[in-house]
Amino acid sequence: MVQQTSGSASAELNRLRDEINRYNYQYYVLDEPTVPDAEYDRLFQQLKAIEQQHPEWITPDSPSQRVGAQPLASFTTVAHEKPMLSLDNAFADDDLIAFDKRLKDRLGFDGSIEYACEPKLDGIAISLLYEDGLLVRALTRGDGLNGEDITANVRTIKSVPLKLYGDDYPSRLEVRGEIFMPKAGFAALNEAARAADEKVFVNPRNAAAGSLRQLDSRITARRPLQLCAYSVGIHEGQALPAKHTDILHHLKRWGFAPNDQLKTAQSIDECIAYHQALGEKRDSLAYDIDGVVFKVNAITQQETLGFVSRAPRWAIAYKFPAQEEMTTLDAVEFQVGRTGSITPVARLAPVFVGGVTVSNATLHNRDEIARLDVRVGDTVIVRRAGDVIPQVVAVVKERRPDDASEIVFPSECPICGSPATEVPGEAAIRCEGGLICPAQRKEAIRHFASRKAMDIDGLGDKLVEQLVDKSLITTVADLFSLTREQLAGLERMGEKSADNLLLALETSKTTSLARFIYALGIREVGEATARNLSAHFGQLDALAAADEETLQGVDDVGPVVAHFIRDFFVEPENIEIITRLRALGVNWPETDKSAEVDIPQPLADQTVVITGTLESMSRDEAGEQLRALGAKVAGSVSKKTSFIVAGPGAGSKLTKAEALGVEVLDEAALVALLAQHSNE
Ligand code: NAD
Repeated sequence: MVQQTSGSASAELNRLRDEINRYNYQYYVLDEPTVPDAEYDRLFQQLKAIEQQHPEWITPDSPSQRVGAQPLASFTTVAHEKPMLSLDNAFADDDLIAFDKRLKDRLGFDGSIEYACEPKLDGIAISLLYEDGLLVRALTRGDGLNGEDITANVRTIKSVPLKLYGDDYPSRLEVRGEIFMPKAGFAALNEAARAADEKVFVNPRNAAAGSLRQLDSRITARRPLQLCAYSVGIHEGQALPAKHTDILHHLKRWGFAPNDQLKTAQSIDECIAYHQALGEKRDSLAYDIDGVVFKVNAITQQETLGFVSRAPRWAIAYKFPAQEEMTTLDAVEFQVGRTGSITPVARLAPVFVGGVTVSNATLHNRDEIARLDVRVGDTVIVRRAGDVIPQVVAVVKERRPDDASEIVFPSECPICGSPATEVPGEAAIRCEGGLICPAQRKEAIRHFASRKAMDIDGLGDKLVEQLVDKSLITTVADLFSLTREQLAGLERMGEKSADNLLLALETSKTTSLARFIYALGIREVGEATARNLSAHFGQLDALAAADEETLQGVDDVGPVVAHFIRDFFVEPENIEIITRLRALGVNWPETDKSAEVDIPQPLADQTVVITGTLESMSRDEAGEQLRALGAKVAGSVSKKTSFIVAGPGAGSKLTKAEALGVEVLDEAALVALLAQHSNE
């Protein structure tokens, strides 16, 4: 029986070693991890548990005895003068307390040990060798004994000093640290990669590793990498301070940016408090961290404690909850957003990641699904970092079941059944339901009531929410049938406000054709296009009857917009809503424009710059109105500028305009100009 148990335990041990070695190779050598760190850590803990029970089974080639993996052959391999080790891990307060106790026992010391507390940055370990103050070599950690020479790449990183500051540094000095990619740089890099259809990195650590181990250092130079120095390896020619934190202060003097979270703790309880506090700050830091590193601060104590096979005894990494986990993709559902865009949402087997249980994640769009090559039934890696919506970042292909099925996009809106069409040039699909789609209802009503549309004073977002949620309105036409009683019964609505709103609704009924067209919320029909359509057709029925070719005859209307306009007016429910609105009294002056050819563009050929603060409108609004009159609105003043509009606070643009003799209009002059040309 005993024999059998230990037989299966040793088989399990071999299986774990093989699996961990494979993951090590993918992670350290290929920079292409296939499972999340949390999964790797679990396997590693299992391996250590078996080896603890059977110390006689430990072999020097077990992953528990080794660091990293063999260096990559494409770089020159160089032996480390002093091995670069890993760190032991703690996952709970008790692990930290046990660590502290172990150290005190070993030191034969019953006082409090002073610790240095540092964030554990998630990047790539680096060894930088300085001779007489000059950077002569940069090595990766490799397998701890031999690293890859990546000096040319590391030289491109601005926070790595090529020459040390001051003159009190050791003549040979090895600085060790982590090269990492800050979160913002990572996001920008991936965004650019997505746009260029290039490789997208799973997380900042993976991006840093991939960027650093490039054969062409010009690529590394373009990547937003930074260095955080956290210790000294070999040093010759000069003694260093007796405490680790003082050594770090010396590094600062010599030109290495210090870590902004470095602290000392006088006891293990203070360490636990530091871990807790940094955990709370984790999301707001500019860089990814996966835990805290605690190091015995006194160098003499470090020396007494020494090392075990793969890690120093005097330091420990207390990990934070994982931000990436594995789970299965059970289904994909399609969600219709406020503006009609239809987004695939992954329904996941619930998994605890980033501190919460996640069962949904965004899959963005068709391109993202193709890039991930994800199928229903797949095992996927989900990332939830901070407040960011959980993302599916990779598929564990080797775990794909035979019956995994392709994700099929709907051809109809799952909410209202209207056609769901692809947007040319975009990976998104959209519901064409416009006014009738319940998912888009609130947004459609809010837009209809907005200032530049029907301008219904007092009908704000909160009120629209309530009216829709209480089923008092389903379309914009219902707004005009609301009663005083219905309104007065709403939250934060007295009889007086109800009366005011009814009055505003009544007033809004008399409008212009341009405003009404804009209010309909037809895709891609903004204020300027609505004005052009109004000026061109003069009558709503003429617009509604126009075919795509006729529509393309209107200024600013290309094939895409023409198609959207046509789609809107062929939808019977949209026509019904318009008919009801007119029956309820919504009106505008109509003119017969069938004979007119030219659309007035009084400011065509004029280039305008707006600067300073305006009181009656925002700069954006002013720009929109000027554009509607044909003007081009530019961001900088040049000889070609026709005039500038300058409000209070205008600075260099005003000075430049004056120097170039460009006409300067104040706000009053702008308002007068707009009024003069307004055809409403
Ligand atoms: P580690 O990352 O747990 O800890 C050691 C490393 O921490 C050091 O080498 C150094 O680079 C870094 N570090 C960051 N800040 C530091 C600081 N202030 N002071 C000292 N060191 C600091 O150990 P490891 O051996 O590099 O890697 C093991 C970990 O890598 C695993 O726990 C797992 O998370 C991940 N891993 C994942 C896979 C995978 O397939 N997903 C495979 C292998 C390893």
